[in-house]
Amino acid sequence: MCDTCGCNLTPGNKHLAFKPVAKGATAVSVLKGLLAKNDDQAAHNREHFDKRGILAINLMSSPGSGKTALLEATLVALKDEFTCAVIEGDLETENDAERIRAKGVQAHQIVTGTACHLDAHLVHDALHHMALDGVDILFIENVGNLVCPASFDLGQHLNVTLLSVTEGDDKPAKYPVMFRAADAMLLTKTDLLAVLDDFDPDKAEAHLRNLANPAPVMRLSARKELNMEAWYAWLREQLATQLARVAQGQSRRPKIHALEFDRTVKILNVCGGHERSITHAGLRGALPKWIELVPGPGCPVCVCPEEVVYQAMQLALQDRCILVAFGDMLRVPVNVKKGEVRSLAEAQAAGADIRPIASPLDARKIALDNPERPVVFFAAGFETTTAPVAAMLAEGIPTNLSILLSGRLTWPAVAMLLDSGTPGFDALVAPGHVSTIMGPEEWSFVVDRHEIPAAVAGFGTESLLASFYSVLRQLKTGERFLDNCYREVAHPGGNPTARRMLEQTLDVVDANWRGIGIIPNSGYALKPAFAKHDALLLYPDHSDPTRRRAGEMPPGCDCAQVVLGKIYPNQCRIYGLACTPRNPVGPCMVSDEGACRIWWAGGVRVVADA
Ligand code: SF4
Repeated sequence: MCDTCGCNLTPGNKHLAFKPVAKGATAVSVLKGLLAKNDDQAAHNREHFDKRGILAINLMSSPGSGKTALLEATLVALKDEFTCAVIEGDLETENDAERIRAKGVQAHQIVTGTACHLDAHLVHDALHHMALDGVDILFIENVGNLVCPASFDLGQHLNVTLLSVTEGDDKPAKYPVMFRAADAMLLTKTDLLAVLDDFDPDKAEAHLRNLANPAPVMRLSARKELNMEAWYAWLREQLATQLARVAQGQSRRPKIHALEFDRTVKILNVCGGHERSITHAGLRGALPKWIELVPGPGCPVCVCPEEVVYQAMQLALQDRCILVAFGDMLRVPVNVKKGEVRSLAEAQAAGADIRPIASPLDARKIALDNPERPVVFFAAGFETTTAPVAAMLAEGIPTNLSILLSGRLTWPAVAMLLDSGTPGFDALVAPGHVSTIMGPEEWSFVVDRHEIPAAVAGFGTESLLASFYSVLRQLKTGERFLDNCYREVAHPGGNPTARRMLEQTLDVVDANWRGIGIIPNSGYALKPAFAKHDALLLYPDHSDPTRRRAGEMPPGCDCAQVVLGKIYPNQCRIYGLACTPRNPVGPCMVSDEGACRIWWAGGVRVVADA
């Protein structure tokens, strides 16, 4: 579906949506299929344009920013130089196309009905109603909307985004997807600046730069013909570039491809959600070969110490507690002799009362429903999972509920890699979900202390691609700053309430990461005030000094190397052989956030050399 607001259907593609779908297809898979078909159609449209040497420009803005007025002035000014044509998109009426035709220029009106954006199918249909031979520039005036049009490739070569001075100068910050996509930003109606005191063009440009977008910004007024020459000069330059490209048999390449490095650039992510989006969207295959996307320490289940998993099993088996845990912890194997119980799932099968939960609220409910029984919540997670645990402690926890905590902070693992002197990556994509809690600025040290480009990204592919582009551009230009490509959710300072609860209830301590060792200040522990809810203090220590490989990885397992981004999952010697999701050997093949499981689920079946 549209990555931004979820809309998708237009009069141009609804015939695809209402075709019979494969048995078992979900709404999401059908809508994803629509977007893929849109991209195919867009590529086809671009071929049409390139074959004829046409430069196609997609004009986007909110309603009333002056797109049609800009076109009217441009078409008149350039009429002796170029042959132009226009596609107009509106929910209703032929008004804008008639205004263009009144200037003696070919125009086709697309009436979208309820659809808030154009798509490639609509544009393709329009092209069949137009005489394209001899056209130099095709302007596509998209539906007035600052959200969805940026998500749909129409086959254009360039995006031009208009921002009128009657709108807020912070629009680029509020609508980052739209303004990140802009190849040029036009500040329109600037003649009104004299009577407006609440729009600062410098601020608008600064907001655009904050999105790591280097696009030119032109301040103009179409009606008063102010500074229009800069816009015309830009159009001439872009058409010349397009004709040169076409002469060489090339088409316009996506921005990331156009950067071009003559060496491998490694971009580390530290979030299982990022890795899942990258793998399932096929981003590795879509990006140039010189970019390596490296999965790093992004799976809290994978780094939960083996001896803590063993302890959790014993609490359920020996101390007869009700043990509750997030589902992906249940199949993590521990090191025991063949034939012995080796995971929480096997302990459950052996009669222990172990219950999977989806949230701390479930743990609370189970404790309240079983007041006569001790309940232990085995909580393994990063900041986002630990914050709700802190909230439960702060707001009052049932007396029979205790916490076996394996909470971890993400940034110290990255700091450890950077301090090692051989970090193994050139740029960092920082986790957006952690930043929503802790604030994006927590990652500033990557840039400030290590001069490594960094960008915060959300789970969506648009946000991820924006973060890749940002860090690559920083590497290219030598600039260094922490970019935030998830501004709509990750705000400075994070979530103050969640942070306060974390500070009230938990201490930050040195912590053990499975297979890696102690990382300073990387773990959470319950404060002494909550000792009577700390399962580590309440129950006997079941660690067994005779247990072989206690605390270690299983034989042959390279999970620690995978977690640190030192090797790729399929470089593990037993990936897909002894270790599969059905028979996992290491934790990275168990959790939905484990890189090995994600790669396997993403169809990676080829084992690679380390
Ligand atoms: S394939 Fe299995 S054993 Fe190897 S690193 Fe991945 S999870 Fe660990």
